Amino acid sequence: MKYYSTRGAAPVSSAEAIVKGLATDGGLYTMRPEHIPRIDLRVLKGLSYTDIAAEIISRYLADFSREELKDLVGASYKAKFSSESIVPLRNSGKNLFLELYHGPTSAFKDIALCVLPRLMKRAAEKTGNDSDILILTATSGDTGKAALEGFKDVPGIRIIVFYPNEGVSAVQKAQMVSQKGENIKVCAIEGNFDDAQSGVKTIFEESPAGLSSANSINIGRLVPQIVYYFSAYIDACSSGIISEGELLNYAVPTGNFGDILAGYLAKEMGLPVGKLICASNRNNILTDFIASGSYDMRRPFYKTLSPSMDILLSSNLERLLFLLGEDSALIAEQMNMLRENGVYTVPPDILNKLRESFLAYHCDDSETKQAIAELWQEQQYLCDPHTAVAYRAAKAYNGMAGRTVILSTASPYKFPGAVLSALGAADTEDEFEMMESLYRISGCPIPENLKTLKNAEILHRDCISPQAMRDYVFQRAKEEKWKE
Ligand SMILES: *Cc1c(COP(=O)(O)O)cnc(C)c1O
Repeated sequence: MKYYSTRGAAPVSSAEAIVKGLATDGGLYTMRPEHIPRIDLRVLKGLSYTDIAAEIISRYLADFSREELKDLVGASYKAKFSSESIVPLRNSGKNLFLELYHGPTSAFKDIALCVLPRLMKRAAEKTGNDSDILILTATSGDTGKAALEGFKDVPGIRIIVFYPNEGVSAVQKAQMVSQKGENIKVCAIEGNFDDAQSGVKTIFEESPAGLSSANSINIGRLVPQIVYYFSAYIDACSSGIISEGELLNYAVPTGNFGDILAGYLAKEMGLPVGKLICASNRNNILTDFIASGSYDMRRPFYKTLSPSMDILLSSNLERLLFLLGEDSALIAEQMNMLRENGVYTVPPDILNKLRESFLAYHCDDSETKQAIAELWQEQQYLCDPHTAVAYRAAKAYNGMAGRTVILSTASPYKFPGAVLSALGAADTEDEFEMMESLYRISGCPIPENLKTLKNAEILHRDCISPQAMRDYVFQRAKEEKWKE
């Protein structure tokens, strides 16, 4: 299977797509829709998560064999997840929660970012690339830490993470600035996530050689996320929640559209998916887009209690447009219009196709808090603000046919301020004390990686303007050693 740039540049192999990250014309490497592999669920029944992953990923990444992926994925997750099933499906009251946050940094991004470094290293070998790779990553909070953990001390790879200085929680910031490793740099940007992301994209477009990305623009990041849509379905069948063949809906807290796009690919592979519910916070650009067909960035950017979804430019939407219309000339034009005028509109036939699979809903911070409180009071289920947005969205559509799986993307302890204030128990400004309070109230254990953060030494203090990102990268790229 070849990977095509959404904007028309020549196709590349799966290994090349992973090494490069972004296509040379600024497009995202994507498979043609007619090449999406179909899979018979019976092949996956009874397999472990790792084996399901090997089956699915090998169908997308033709340069990797199934056996090779079994080892690679097994090694990636080994001893890193606190849950044996990697992604447990919890049945709580009327709701199903797919808990994706039991990895090393307590957010769902671990699932892909534990695998990506090994995939990238192997892909570089396969393409005969023996020079060092420099990974550039923009983060709204969770990708950064998960990427740092994944790539730390991987030989031949260095990584720079940019995060919005005022746009991440205290816990997220502490996680990143305390990161150890000799091949990593962490740098704050005086701006928001979109500034950081477009800074990184510009650097790629100017001088892609030797650079790659750990953001969900990398196909090696997207493909491992398809796996848990299948594992959830299989778990729901084997525990008798649904019978085989019955449709399952998924409510996905959405930012960059990577997670939910993986769900769309699962559906196109033949998984019995009803609807994918795109759940957003007050930055409701996707809700408006699905309602109107117009992607309109001419609007204010809000900081919310669910910062990993504070995004106006949802990169992976470009992939969906390609999968629905296969018209790279049109996409290139739309992305140009977006850059120049801040808005583009999709033709009615694309919008109709999109609506066959997607529903959308958004809620503000007060509804998010209400949702957290309601879940705790009614079901003693403690959830983080991102998951709460998805829960709220699932609830808005609860008249719809079929059960709905709510993707639970972060540990509540990653956002203790928001969760405590939702429970009406915020009594301090210190997020680490808040973790303790939350533990006293809920009795849910604090994940080990977050518990030890409080006293971790600060190792990274760089903070620059978005305009300075380019020079920062080229300066660092020239340095031979990165030891502080
Ligand atoms: C990244 C993230 C999201 C959004 O995922 P996308 O793939 O960017 O849509 C949702 N919740 C949490 C906790 C995240 O870290």
